[in-house]
Amino acid sequence: MSKTAQEVWTNCLSFIKDNVPETGYRTWFEPIKPVKLSGEILTIQVPSHFFYEFLEEHYIKIIRVALIKELGEGAKLVYDIRLENTYGSNSPQITTRPSSDRNPLKEQKTVCFPETKKELKNPFVIPGLQKVKIESQLNPNYNFTSFVEGDSNRLARSAGMAVANKPGGTSFNPLLIYGGVGLGKTHLAHAIGVDIKDKYPDKTVLYISSEKFTQQFIDSIKSNTRNDFIHFYQMIDVLIIDDVQFLSGKKGTQDVFFHIFNHLHQNGKQVILTSDKAPVDMQDIEVRLLSRFKWGLSAELQRPDYETRISILQNKLYRDGVEMPNEIIEYIAKNITSNVRELEGVIISMIAQASFNRKEYTLDLARQIVDKFVKNTKKELSVDYIQKVVSKYFDIDVATLQSKTRKRHIVQARQLAMFFAKRLTKNSLASIGSQIGSRDHATVLHACKVVDNLSETDKQFRVYVEELTKKLTF
Ligand code: ADP
Ligand code: MG
Repeated sequence: MSKTAQEVWTNCLSFIKDNVPETGYRTWFEPIKPVKLSGEILTIQVPSHFFYEFLEEHYIKIIRVALIKELGEGAKLVYDIRLENTYGSNSPQITTRPSSDRNPLKEQKTVCFPETKKELKNPFVIPGLQKVKIESQLNPNYNFTSFVEGDSNRLARSAGMAVANKPGGTSFNPLLIYGGVGLGKTHLAHAIGVDIKDKYPDKTVLYISSEKFTQQFIDSIKSNTRNDFIHFYQMIDVLIIDDVQFLSGKKGTQDVFFHIFNHLHQNGKQVILTSDKAPVDMQDIEVRLLSRFKWGLSAELQRPDYETRISILQNKLYRDGVEMPNEIIEYIAKNITSNVRELEGVIISMIAQASFNRKEYTLDLARQIVDKFVKNTKKELSVDYIQKVVSKYFDIDVATLQSKTRKRHIVQARQLAMFFAKRLTKNSLASIGSQIGSRDHATVLHACKVVDNLSETDKQFRVYVEELTKKLTF
């Protein structure tokens, strides 16, 4: 038993390599570094939190088999999530996570070392307000890797990458991303933030919708904390405001944003905005604010051309591990032309319908689904919407679904909601957990497994899954 971490991992890799697709291997295994072996515990280093979640979700079984072959039944895996700071000014940030799939060993909380627990501390204590931890509110699944490049988005995408490399340090400040519904504005805005967080873990990044920003501002007036509100925003390094068109006509909010913007800009902080219109077409936005929007770069997201639509579909299918005949992909790309969300929506419905109703992927099924999408613009599937539909189906209210009760039928409803949220939206496990009654990501992962198992072994349960699938995706 005098193997090194490197030797153990090399052996695991040669086994894994034979069992996962080439591209998957390159993307998800080559970047891993084995860092420590103590007894039966192997520690591997992964580059981001998202990476860790992805491995846990998609590859944990195979890793486990490989590890047991190497280290025996008691093998355990610990992740070392390392976010390198590219400029080396600060020591890298490390958190370790036990694999959720490992054997007993008591639930180990996130451990940070070296001894500083810095990243868990809230850098902001809003004076006079409750101490709250400021989360970036970023969705790690909305990253650059998953944002397919095409002629329609090349400028915006590369401007976004430039900003992410040097936040506040390019002439793209503010960066305004504009374009029609469902063309990827929100995704790209998150991707920039996620990338900055990876490269500069110490920077405070905040993503917020302009509606939420407005609401917070109104609340601050009511509670007489307008200055705290301004201070708070002035302390952020990278501020991402989504859908600024909703500020139109709201003079008070525009004023306050103007002040925050000036402060951030003068201090070399990065501002990223999205809008459904180009600055010239924005209405009821004060001239002085509009002129600020034009200081940096306005980059348009256009409708994707046919080739890009095909790539987006293929990328989605690849990520979901699904193979679909080309003629179906082409059919979808030909018929859904103006909205990436709908392209994805059709794929999500196809997969859901086919897997739960034991249907094949046929052109006919594609036609039916495309028809539905073309006729009635579908509701966006969100975790909220899924919770509502599932609660209604079981005749309980959403609060009950989210509650801590262990009553069997409620637990099942909750697990189904988690399962569908994972299947049908891009939210991370952690984000689904936090939206469904503040659970953690391991609980969601467990729920998905339970639903998978039960729908194979329990007839009644299968009916639930099938009926809910229809409700949610047709
Ligand atoms: P918008 O904010 O412009 O309405 P979103 O950013 O919400 O659009 O995008 C809608 C959906 O389409 C999201 O699920 C997003 O991931 C996906 N999407 C948009 N553009 C791309 C792209 N270029 N590559 C991959 N997915 C994309
Ligand atoms: Mg959006």
